[in-house]
Formats: sequence, structure tokens, C-alpha cells
Amino acid sequence: MDDFSLDIRTLTFIIILFSFIYCVGLQLFQFSQQPIKGLSLFSISILVIGTGPLMLSLRGDAPDWLSIIGANMVIALGFHMALYSLCLFRGYSLKSTNLSSLLMLGVLLSFVYFTYYVPSIKSRIIIISLYVAIVTLSTALAVLKGQRNDLTLATRMMALSFAVYGGFMVVRVIAVFFSAELNDFMTANLIHQLTFLFSIVLIVSMSFTMLWMINARLLSSIHELSYSDPLTSLGNRRALDEIAPELMKKANTIPVSAIMMDIDNFKSINDQYGHIVGDYVIKSAAEVIQSAIKLSSSATAFRFGGDEIAILLPNVHLQQAQEVASTLRQSISEIKAVRGHDLSLTSSFGVAQFHPHESWDEFMSRTDKALYNAKKNGRNMTSTCLSHTNGPVSTEA
Ligand code: GH3
Ligand code: MG
Repeated sequence: MDDFSLDIRTLTFIIILFSFIYCVGLQLFQFSQQPIKGLSLFSISILVIGTGPLMLSLRGDAPDWLSIIGANMVIALGFHMALYSLCLFRGYSLKSTNLSSLLMLGVLLSFVYFTYYVPSIKSRIIIISLYVAIVTLSTALAVLKGQRNDLTLATRMMALSFAVYGGFMVVRVIAVFFSAELNDFMTANLIHQLTFLFSIVLIVSMSFTMLWMINARLLSSIHELSYSDPLTSLGNRRALDEIAPELMKKANTIPVSAIMMDIDNFKSINDQYGHIVGDYVIKSAAEVIQSAIKLSSSATAFRFGGDEIAILLPNVHLQQAQEVASTLRQSISEIKAVRGHDLSLTSSFGVAQFHPHESWDEFMSRTDKALYNAKKNGRNMTSTCLSHTNGPVSTEA
């Protein structure tokens, strides 16, 4: 193991190459997609982190203020930028970046002291390693605790990358503290060589997990778009079909009911006031339904199509569902004006309870049949399909 040695200059070259490629790649990604908060700064932070070691390697050819103080301040700035950008990206308080700004000033002053007044490579390594440890561990926390709803596995992986790097920096501080003073950093021992290796791993994994999280965000927004109705923000027909198997399973142990609502004579609203007002009428009815059912945690409303809204009620018996429908019918009739137009709105409801021996489609068609019955019997009423064997449909005004 004593013979094991990594060439710091080669590692430095790899770091700058990787950081440049990832920075340009992420910048291009940012320009070609919808801008993502924090991504631009994050990609620049990777390049800045990578530039530090390059500047360090100029030691001897460039003045100390550049190859020692400048290089380490660039590294400190890079990690500070990474923390700041990830706080933005993950929706975490920017307060933690105040500490790293303050610490950066401390790093600068102590580097001036340990470069010009009491030159000590050992002290400088301890200071920059301690700073990087604090900032990377704070970054891991910000990534984990951010408010944005990101893919858990990807956020944990990114947090882990920063935590491992921070942990390594703590080990480095302890190792350097108990070792002798160094004469030349570029020929330094294994722990310093490993720092470069860990930096490469961090740059690769932070870039990879960032792309992973962005990809998951895109997928989830596509999912949201394809499963929600843009006018009412309720789930659409596809969303309803997706939860059907789950509800059917539940129906073995709990009652599951459905309500189908359709606005009465909606075509005439469209004809009289125009489609835009018609849209707002559908939207208002959906809002009324949504705010009424949100009191019950498990009920969900879906826009079934046109002016029809379906409500699924797990753990609700037929009779309770009937009462919910009557309350909703009353609430919809209280919508008296939409977009400055006075109107008198009525709606019809069909109600049914799922029977374990029927298919989902049979259940939905029974609910629809009940609604049809309400329409047929004069509208503005709730109709209930009592039996799963297509029995009589009772009507309640
Ligand atoms: P009924 O009482 O029998 O339900 O009569 P209705 O006039 O409401 O008839 P129906 O429910 O069959 O008509 C729905 C109409 O809703 C047909 C279509 O022109 C209109 N529609 C469907 N989707 C939209 C929409 O997104 N916005 C608007 N403004 N109108 C829509
Ligand atoms: Mg209608």
C-alpha cells in the first residue's frame, strides 16, 4: 500500500475536464428546456469547483496569491455556489448560505495569515478541508430537507454524495492534524491524493443525480398533465380508470360508492352566454364539488367528460352517498352568477354502490344509468341504482 500513489497533476486534469463537460452539458440542457431554478448556478459551481485544483497546480509557476489563496478561495466559492444553487433547486431556506459566506471570509483571512505571516501548508489544508466539510454536509442536509417534491431515491443519492465527501473532509482534517508539516502539496501523501479522487466522484455523482432529479420532475409533470383536466384541475377519465383496480380491491372489505353529476341543460348555457362562460360554469361546479368533498379525506372527484363529474367515495355506503349527492345538488344550485352573468343552475345526480360481483365498467354504467334516470324524470334530482343486477332505479327529488 505504501507504493500506492496517484498522480495529482493527472487527477487535476481529469477534474477540470469532467467539470467543464458537465458544466457545458447542464448549461445546454438549461437553455434547451424550461428554465429550472438553481440549475444554471449549479452547473457553474461545478466548473468553479474544478478550476480550483487547476489553479493549485500552478504552484511555483504563478504567484502565491493566485496559486494558493486564489485557488483555495475558488474552491470555497465553488462549494458555496453549489450549496446556494441546491437550496434554490430543492426549495430549502437560503439561511444556511449566510454561514458559508461568513466562513468564506474567515478562510480568506486565515489563508493570508498562513501564506504570508506564518506559512503553513498543514494549517491551510485543515482550514479549507474544515470549510468544505461544513459546506458539503450543509448541502447534504439542504438536498434532503428541501421542500420540492423530487424523486426520493435521487435526492438521497445526491445527499449521500455530499455527505460522503464531507465525511472524507472530516477524516482529512483529523489525519492532517496528527501528521507532520508538508513541504510540497503536489507530491503530498495518499490522503491528499484521495481528495482529488473524491472530488472527481463528487462532480460525476452530483451531475448525474441532478439530471436524474430533473428527468423525474419532467416525467411527473407529464404524468400530471395527462392525468388532470386543465379546465377544472380535477383528475380526468384516465386518472379515474387508474385508481379503479385499487378501489375494486378495497371494495372487498369496505363499501365503495360513486356519484355521477351532470349539469342540467348545459347546452343552453353555452348557447346563451357562449362557450367561455360555459367553461366557467363547469369550473365553478367543479370547485363547489371539490371544496365540499375535501372534508372527507378519501373522496375524489374526476371530470368524466363535458359537463359530467364523477365522485368516488371509498368507505361510504349507498345511503351516505345519496346524502352527499343531495348536499352537492343544493350547493351547485347556490351558484347564482358566473363571470358577471346571472344564472340559475341545476344539476342531476346518479348514485350507486359497488357490488363485489360486478366489474368496474358495470358499476360505472349503473351509476350512469341512475343519472340518466334522474334526467328522464325531470332533472334537478338525485337518482339511485339500488341493485347490481340492473334492478329498478329509485328516484329522489
Ligand atoms: P342535460 O340536462 O340532458 O344534461 O342537457 P345538456 O344540455 O346539459 O346536455 P349534455 O350534458 O349532453 O351536454 C353537454 C354539452 O356540454 C355538450 C357540449 O357542447 C358541451 N361541452 C362539452 N365539453 C365542454 C367544455 O369543455 N366547455 C363548454 N363550454 N362546453 C362543453
Ligand atoms: Mg348536461
